[in-house]
Amino acid sequence: MSLLYPDMLKNRITDITPDDLKKLGVCGLLLDVDNTLTTHGSQVLDPAISDWIDNMKSLGFIPTIVSNAPPGRVAPFAKRLGLRYISFACKPFPIGFIRGARRLGLKRKECVAIGDQTFTDIIGANLAGVHSIQLLPILPEHQITLRFKRRFEGYILKRYRKKQKKSYTNS
Ligand SMILES: [Mg+2]
Repeated sequence: MSLLYPDMLKNRITDITPDDLKKLGVCGLLLDVDNTLTTHGSQVLDPAISDWIDNMKSLGFIPTIVSNAPPGRVAPFAKRLGLRYISFACKPFPIGFIRGARRLGLKRKECVAIGDQTFTDIIGANLAGVHSIQLLPILPEHQITLRFKRRFEGYILKRYRKKQKKSYTNS
């Protein structure tokens, strides 16, 4: 089951603190786009998210985008954030995260994948040997395949939370 579990679970990207990243020992941030930086397929940029990215950059963290979406969707969004990107990343295959870490000039264990989907972001991160922080999706999707995946994800996250609670009470 551990391939399915993230290192941390957060509600929104803006809930991730510099201390969280230090705890993981990472400085490279491999960011998903859909339902992580904005809602699915949207180009709308929440100022709280661009502020979060600017703050992380000023503290020495290096963000880049690793998305499964095509360049036509990712490029304009990445440009507005002033970030480089990898599109068609083929997550959950590890190649996108491996390329992302290499592009940042960092070891994989110095990077964290931040995304909202177990079956792409988290499995891909675990296969690539990068850390992972899972977020809850900003908005539920309407596509039938995604809704189906979310049901499984709900079950996995329930088990993950239980496990975390157990290790917390045991420590
Ligand atoms: Mg996503």
